[in-house]
Amino acid sequence: MSALCLGLAAALALAIPAARAADCPGNPNALGTSRTLVIDPTEHTKIGTMQYRETLPLKDHEVVLTFDDGPLPPHSTQVFQTLQSECVKATFFIIGRMAKQFPDGVRRLYEAGHTIGTHSENHPLSFNHMPIERAQQEINDGIQHTVAALGDPAKVSPFFRIPGLLRAEGVEDYLASRGIQTWSADFPADDWRPISSAQVLNLALTRLEAKGKGVLLLHDIQGRTAAMLPTLLHELKARGYRIVHVVAATPDQPKTPTEPRDWLLHPDAPQAMTARWPAIPHFVFAGSAQMPAPDIVDMRYIDDPVIFHGREHIYRPGRFAADTVPVPPAPAWPRQPALAALAATDLPAPDATLFRMPRMPGAEVRMARRSPAQRAIPVSTATGGARPAPAGTAAKPIAYRNDSQALRQMSGSAPVTTVGLQRGPIVLH
Ligand SMILES: [Zn+2]
Repeated sequence: MSALCLGLAAALALAIPAARAADCPGNPNALGTSRTLVIDPTEHTKIGTMQYRETLPLKDHEVVLTFDDGPLPPHSTQVFQTLQSECVKATFFIIGRMAKQFPDGVRRLYEAGHTIGTHSENHPLSFNHMPIERAQQEINDGIQHTVAALGDPAKVSPFFRIPGLLRAEGVEDYLASRGIQTWSADFPADDWRPISSAQVLNLALTRLEAKGKGVLLLHDIQGRTAAMLPTLLHELKARGYRIVHVVAATPDQPKTPTEPRDWLLHPDAPQAMTARWPAIPHFVFAGSAQMPAPDIVDMRYIDDPVIFHGREHIYRPGRFAADTVPVPPAPAWPRQPALAALAATDLPAPDATLFRMPRMPGAEVRMARRSPAQRAIPVSTATGGARPAPAGTAAKPIAYRNDSQALRQMSGSAPVTTVGLQRGPIVLH
């Protein structure tokens, strides 16, 4: 073999670890994967600045994509296809029960070169207070079913993400004792909440820009995540970010050399700039008090808990599920307490029977022409103008079903009732 051939072989070998954008079949403009980072999980047992001091040793503008809770068609499939089309490698934290039900989904990920971590067997949102024996069982069952899907323990990476990020020292110590690295994240995009895919995209990009690099937490089972992922990848490329694929070191694949300071997000920045996000529940679930009460019909979105008044709740945005897969026959995860604390602070919507128009022979009610903002408020000329909405209903205007009909009936010369609106029977719910 000539020196030229040896040189060429060496160059090719260097190119192998990551799929470059130019190498992406059918997509010359793909984002691609810029490099593979090989880490020793026993050296740095906990990563992710949402909760821990250290994070992955990334350079500025480097991003690690992580997806939790799958695989679950159809959105996991959609996410997989998007990553494939952009030649992007990610890390998936698999649920054991999902692996048991959809082993092909796990195999497909592994065969495409993604990293397979685990995320417990049943996704209980109580790792922070459950007996350690039960936590161990959840961890081990999850690994077992993921291994069963792949047929080889070596295909499952020693990476674990605690459901809901509800960490506990005993759990972290147990994982470390088994050589398993606990993964938090550097920023989420709140894709388990009932927000639009555009909002998920905006949160992902805004939080990434704020930190400049890091591990992004997403959920491949979420329709809003699958919907925004193509745009996210496009934006990452446009803004100069690079995707890093993370794998665990093996005897055949030694770790990427790093310095201890590389495992800090911004080692040279003043403390104020390296401040972590506030404690998980307060940050991740901020604004949860504004959420509507959960719909128990649809349990497909159950994931991380909402922390409200110090208690964990599960949020189930049922009404947002109309465009997605049918409701499963059984809940994916155990049910959690209802949002009693929230309900107590909510004002009930007024019932349509609370107010009614009197029907009096020969008498008619004049409906004044009003601006759209005023339209929801019933008006009687008998009282000289707008009747104030009852207390507690101002934020939820009453829609008057027969408003347009009333306006048609009221030519300018119609007689006006002297009775006006009457209070109907109060219906308690
Ligand atoms: Zn999860």
